[in-house]
Amino acid sequence: MLSAEIIAIGSELLAADRTDTNSLWLTEQLNRMGIDVKLKTVVGDDDARLEEVVKDAVKRSRVVITTGGLGPTEDDITRKVVARALKRRLSLNESVLAEIRERFKSFGMNMPERNSRQAMVIDGSEVLPNPNGSAPGLYLEHEGCAVALFPGPPREMKPMFENHVQSRLEKLAGDIRFARRVLRVAGMGESAVDEKIAPIYTKYENPQTTILFNSSEIEVHLRAHGRTEADAEALLDDLSLKIEKELGNAVFSFRGEKMEEVVGRRLAITGFTLSVAESCTGGLIAERLTNVPGSSKYFVEGLVTYSNESKTRLLGVDKKLIREFGAVSQQVARDMARGVRHRAKTDFGLAVTGIAGPDGGTEEKPVGLVFIALADGAHTEHKRFVLPGDRELIRWRASQAALDMLRRRLI
Ligand code: AMP
Ligand code: MG
Repeated sequence: MLSAEIIAIGSELLAADRTDTNSLWLTEQLNRMGIDVKLKTVVGDDDARLEEVVKDAVKRSRVVITTGGLGPTEDDITRKVVARALKRRLSLNESVLAEIRERFKSFGMNMPERNSRQAMVIDGSEVLPNPNGSAPGLYLEHEGCAVALFPGPPREMKPMFENHVQSRLEKLAGDIRFARRVLRVAGMGESAVDEKIAPIYTKYENPQTTILFNSSEIEVHLRAHGRTEADAEALLDDLSLKIEKELGNAVFSFRGEKMEEVVGRRLAITGFTLSVAESCTGGLIAERLTNVPGSSKYFVEGLVTYSNESKTRLLGVDKKLIREFGAVSQQVARDMARGVRHRAKTDFGLAVTGIAGPDGGTEEKPVGLVFIALADGAHTEHKRFVLPGDRELIRWRASQAALDMLRRRLI
């Protein structure tokens, strides 16, 4: 499998408010043709550092792509520095110069003298025309490494890649295809997941497995390569089946679906209806559920009953329970779930009450304490959580735990 690296050039990309988006797009294109991006570098308009990066890059990678620094100004150093790093001459190409002149003329302008720098071409390289800007790109092969230099603006870089470089790289890559899959896991921590599945996935070099934490869930990313997409998919099927067997119900999604989509699909298939009573999540659960198109089929109503008085008035929660056990208690959560279900006349009632913080925690009832209850016609279940994180994260995790409780009930 060919390894590639991408070098994003430009001091502005090191500022706090700019991101290198070119490499994201390029990575997608390269992966699609079966080229593995092993490294990305962002380097400022700095001669010495860029030279170092380019020298290392052509030694370790089969494909090197740079973006940026092909402009006409003093700080655009890519051509000059790449030529120096590869020990190749840089010379003025008359026909490129004529084209740039022509481009200016077509706008009724004379070419500023500095733009002649853009006609400097590295020995042995091919000029890639740029119909969307003045900076042409360059492509060359250097000691077994394919090197492409693209301008920084995405609207110039993308068509140049597609029209002049893609097919060459496809040939270099040969018949290799990637496939990827994301398994999402609920109700388990990162270490717990890894402890269970590391003995399985570490046996495989292909697919490659990465485990990462994403706000309230663990994601297991699998990436496989094969001669065809079907081969790669078959490798994914094999490993993801083994992982699923080990983790069981905790895996809620295999194709990257969100929790609310999974729950929504189950409700739609079973024909059950749902109402929700929320306190500390402030409507987040209803918001997530109703983000899914078609949710009106199963989602009947959501109430944000934030005050004690509202829990009693809208849900019929017994005042005595609130007085005796507090609004954040299993008793109140259960009464909320039963109350909303009864009043909305749904199959399920789901309720959340908790302390999102940062204030309001006590020793007995710390910040992050959340009770979730789920009622159907026959019985009511509840769970107690102490969720870590700040206010936003606690609210998000509470919404996830509530949806997960319903998901497990629907299995
Ligand atoms: P340059 O080719 O260095 O003159 O790039 C000019 C402009 O292209 C920059 O000001 C950015 O707006 C854009 N640009 C450069 N590099 C990137 C990048 N890696 N990702 C997204 N935009 C970029
Ligand atoms: Mg620049």
